[in-house]
Amino acid sequence: MSPRTEPFSCKKSLFLRFPDYLLIAIVGFLLPLLNELIWRQQVELIRFFYLIPSSIVAYGRGFRGSLLAAAAIIGLTGMMEVYYATTGINVSELDGRLLGMAMIVLITLADGWIMEKLLTRHRALELVNEGLRLQALTDELTGLYNYRYLTIRLDEELRRAMRLNTQLSLVMIDIDHFKCYNDTHGHPMGDQLLVTLGRILQENVRLVDTVARYGGEEFAIILADTDGEGALVAARRILDAIGKHPFPGRSTQPDGKITVSMGIASFPADAGTKEELIQRADKALYFVKTRNKNSVQLYFDFDSLIDS
Ligand code: GH3
Ligand code: MG
Ligand code: MG
Repeated sequence: MSPRTEPFSCKKSLFLRFPDYLLIAIVGFLLPLLNELIWRQQVELIRFFYLIPSSIVAYGRGFRGSLLAAAAIIGLTGMMEVYYATTGINVSELDGRLLGMAMIVLITLADGWIMEKLLTRHRALELVNEGLRLQALTDELTGLYNYRYLTIRLDEELRRAMRLNTQLSLVMIDIDHFKCYNDTHGHPMGDQLLVTLGRILQENVRLVDTVARYGGEEFAIILADTDGEGALVAARRILDAIGKHPFPGRSTQPDGKITVSMGIASFPADAGTKEELIQRADKALYFVKTRNKNSVQLYFDFDSLIDS
């Protein structure tokens, strides 16, 4: 399973590196300049105007694009020749112009071919980079986002909430008695349970929310635009879905089923920074873990409870 919201989109950018631009300049402009000087002993600037659109097309579309550009050049030049012929201008130079046109067509085709090679290599590299980036941000076992992405996303969501004056909640989740499950059924089955649980979490939140594996058998969810009360509703829905799921081997667990405990902290009610948010959601989770598992706890000032 791959994360539902893509952290990065693969940009099909046409940006190339400096040597590529140099090559385009040589092929696209210096060669026709030489052509004009060698074949005609003069520079006829009008020919370079052909090279502007033809190079752009060849650059963006590769070899096929350059075929189109070449056809357009032949058509345009042909029209010019007809015009010259009907007005009686420069007819004696027709052969020279046709030769020049042939050179430009050839250059355009070469342009397209080189561009195609460069762009193919460039796009292949982009795809590899995209794959590596995604790999660095996802958890191999569950396919969920990993801790690294969670913290990046939390920063982004907090900035957004501050800018738009909205709220967000962080839910920390820990599987109850998971060691017992592993000890009874073995780690491969425990791993499978983690995968299934990750899927259940994804299925019970909105597309804009972010589900991540925090580490081990702990997960975290960023609920965008959601206050503590809203997060409680979502957390209870998840608890319910997990409680009902027929996990294999669940009957050997202390409660006869797979359960989780959750702690929630919200911005701005409970925390103002990413660190505070994580720490307080964690504190709420610890609080509920040590009292009653299979339940949810909103953060509050636990220290005042201990003091009183
Ligand atoms: P509690 O109810 O207090 O949460 O008890 P617990 O047994 O779940 O204890 P804890 O939260 O400390 O869970 C740690 C256990 O989680 C230890 C290890 O067996 C298991 N675990 C952590 N990561 C993995 C993993 O990647 N795969 C598997 N199969 N088990 C893991
Ligand atoms: Mg744990
Ligand atoms: Mg646990």
